[in-house]
This record gives sequence, structure tokens and C-alpha cells, in this order.
Amino acid sequence: MSAAAANHSALLPESLREDFPILNGDVLEGQPLVFFDNAASTQRPRQVIDAIRRVYEHDYANVHRGIHTLSERSTELYEQAREKVRGLINAEKRHEVIFTQGTTASINLVARSWGDANLQPGEEILTTVMEHHSNLVPWLQAAERTGAVLRHVPLTEDGRLDMHQFDNLLNERTQLVAVASVSNTLGTINPIDEITAKAHAAGALVLVDAAQSVPHMPTDVQKSDADFLAFSGHKMLGPSGVGILYGKENLLDAMPPFLGGGSMIGEVHLDRFTPAELPAKFEAGTPPIVPAIAMSAAIDYLQAIGIEAIHRHEQVLTGLAFEALSQIDGLRILGPAPEHRTGLISFVFERIHAHEFAQVLNDRFGVAVRAGHHCTQPLHTLLGISASTRASFYLYNTPAEIDRLLEGIAAVQAMFAPKGRRRRKSGK
Ligand code: PMP
Repeated sequence: MSAAAANHSALLPESLREDFPILNGDVLEGQPLVFFDNAASTQRPRQVIDAIRRVYEHDYANVHRGIHTLSERSTELYEQAREKVRGLINAEKRHEVIFTQGTTASINLVARSWGDANLQPGEEILTTVMEHHSNLVPWLQAAERTGAVLRHVPLTEDGRLDMHQFDNLLNERTQLVAVASVSNTLGTINPIDEITAKAHAAGALVLVDAAQSVPHMPTDVQKSDADFLAFSGHKMLGPSGVGILYGKENLLDAMPPFLGGGSMIGEVHLDRFTPAELPAKFEAGTPPIVPAIAMSAAIDYLQAIGIEAIHRHEQVLTGLAFEALSQIDGLRILGPAPEHRTGLISFVFERIHAHEFAQVLNDRFGVAVRAGHHCTQPLHTLLGISASTRASFYLYNTPAEIDRLLEGIAAVQAMFAPKGRRRRKSGK
């Protein structure tokens, strides 16, 4: 990799790595950690870890319950976090932001509440073949319960949504389009604005699985006109156990509550109840108080750097990795060219299983990548593979770490190459 590339002006300063204790710890006993598994979950900066400790040390009580000082404090912080999320995605109203456990919980909420109340036998849900299981299985289950039918938008040769087929599949029976803004396996950035415009023109709603886009690219739900949007705190420097469902007020208002229990009620009698107003209606029980407050600290951190700047940083890393990986014999990159993707690259090797590959990368080179089907089994089947290796980048990754990945790949190739081809391949 050239020094010019490494010094690319769009890269973020490496000094921000100092904010992440785990990157500077001794996870691998003397070997530096190259963390390329950010699409699965990211690491946390000290600012987020400190926020967690601060709440437990100074501000913790259950929210929306007591009138004592601590409950007032934690309620205020929790509601400030909701406002922070509203700003991040530019929702019009704060109560359009529902705290859940994560993307999966958010999508299941919509499938159960909106789906069961609205889907009729023979009506259609249009999803895509690149969806994460979280945006597939809840719809398969909803279809089983309601008699609705699932349709899937196929891919183009290069791993983008086939929008011609999307146009053909969208019809007057389509009630909902459920689509990822970014594929967690291909990295493909999908044309959400175009999808919402077309779906709305056909009378369908749109749910966006934004787990892989909110952490990496600016999000504006008013501009994209998404009806529902789901994402997770742990993929954007926040804690696990908290996620978001954004929904347009009129839709959330019309939906029945999903989970029943404390907080989500207006009045309860032995024979009936009335639901609470938004957002409480969808936040039954004790919510993820501390994770939500710490997610707010993560958003502060991301916004101080700038989500657009993070996106540009990842584009540089992805460009460098893509170019180098494309030149490796026997390695097949899944998905489109760098300009159509965010900061992740999945690939497969002839002869070498993804798991063996990831194991050697981890053990010998300290490079943490994901191996498997990444919860996109149908997509892998469609591509004729059972597993792939995924390297996914975030704001703290560097060109030098990509060099380390490439070194590891060359070594693994040499290890697994048939004897006669060893020299040529390891010389690459
Ligand atoms: N959708 C996509 C596109 C994802 O990448 C993931 C996480 N891998 C999920 C949904 C599920 O997120 P969570 O596990 O936080 O619910």
C-alpha cells in the first residue's frame, strides 16, 4: 500500500484509537488486535464506558415511576437519549422513537403489531434476497399467521438490488416493502429513497432495516420518507441490549401494543386495559435504561467526529482493501464495486473454508473477521456458497490494519495451497 494512499486526507486521525481501551489492551497477549468484525458489533470508546459507570454511580433508578430524585434524574437522561436519537435520524417527533432491545426486536414489533393487525390472506410483503434473517424470519412468521405471501427482489450480477424486478414485483397487493438500507454481507447500499417513493406510489409502506447504515452514513427519515426504521446501539459504539424502532406517528398510533405489562398502559381494570400514549405504548416493562443513556453518549461521540466523515474514512479503507483483494488469485469478492458499498467486504476462497481461514487470521495475525453465513443463509445459498469471510471496518481502523489482513491472507493461502502452486501464490 502506498504511503500516499495511507495518508489519504479523508482518513480520520489515528489518535482516536486511544479512546478505545480494548484496542490498546492485550486481548491477544502481545499481538496487536485488528478488529474487523464491526458489522457484527463495534467496540466502545471510554466516553461510552464512562457514561455507563456515571449512571450507575450517580443517576440510576427505574424510569417513569418514582417521584424521588434519582428516578427523576434517570427519567430525564433516558428521555434526553430519545431526543438525541430523534436528532440523529431527523425524526419529526420525539415520540416516534421507541427504545427496543435491538434491530431484531424492532422488526419483530412491527411484524407482530402492524403485521397481525393489517395483513390479509393473499396480500404481499416484498422483501429482498439479501436480507439478514432478522428482516426475513419475522415476515415468514407473519405470513404463516396471516396468510400473507412473501416476495423477494433478486440481485443483479454484481450484487445490487435488481430494481427492474422490484418494479415488476411491486403491485396493488403489496402492503409492505421490508428492505435493508445496507446489506450486512454484500455491503451494498440500497436506493432507499427510490424504494420508498415507488412503494408509496403503489400504496405500500416501507420498513428499513438500517442496522448497517445508521452507524456509517447520515440518516434522515423525513427525507427518505421511511415509514419504519430499525437499528441497534451496539453497532454504533453503544452498548448491546438497546435498539430503536422509528415509526411515523400516525402508523404507531394506529398499531395495537405488542408486549403487555407495566408502563404501556393508560388504565388497567381486571377485565380490560387502555394502552398508553406513544412512546410508552411500545415500551412495556423496565426499558434498557442504562444502555439507552450510554447510546446517547455514543451518538455524541459519533457526531463530534461527523457521520459523513466516518463514511468517507470507511470509503478509503474499503477502496484500499477492495483493490488489493481483487488482485488475489482464487479469492472471490461478494457484492458490488466500492462506490456502491459501505465499509465491509465479504469474500470466499477456492479450497479454504471460511472458518479455517478466520481461525488462522485470528490466531497468527490477530485479525478478527467474521466467518459463516452472517445470518444471510438464503443469500449464501443463492450465491452457491455455504459461508464467507467478512472484514468490516469502522472509524478506528487503519490502512496498516488492512496490510495486516493482506499479510494474513497471503500466509493462509501459502499454508493451504497445493504444493506445486505454493511459490507462485505466496509470491503475490
Ligand atoms: N439487520 C442487519 C442488516 C444486521 O446486520 C443485523 C446484525 N448483524 C441485524 C439486523 C440484527 O441486529 P441485532 O442483532 O442487533 O438485533
